[in-house]
Amino acid sequence: MIVRLAIALVIFYLAYRVGKYILRLPSENSRDFSGSRGEIAGEDLVRDPQCGTYVPVSSAVKATIGGETLYFCSEECRDRYREAVEKRKRQRYDDRKE
Ligand SMILES: [Zn+2]
Repeated sequence: MIVRLAIALVIFYLAYRVGKYILRLPSENSRDFSGSRGEIAGEDLVRDPQCGTYVPVSSAVKATIGGETLYFCSEECRDRYREAVEKRKRQRYDDRKE
């Protein structure tokens, strides 16, 4: 009976320690992550949908594809993306025909 009580106390103590450890972790880790946003010196970054690179708006290649205004890191990416969109459109058209 005494042994059981001792085991219960040990388990309780361990649970207490683990709980304290878990509660302490977030406050130490979540300090520096809230401030990191996709901006450099106040300038907005836009994501190149072709290669996934973030580019400053001022140096991005702007294009309107399928009614959407998109920004690319280079003309090569823009052309590749436009090609892919047009290919998708053609495929959809072909699907409807069949
Ligand atoms: Zn790109």
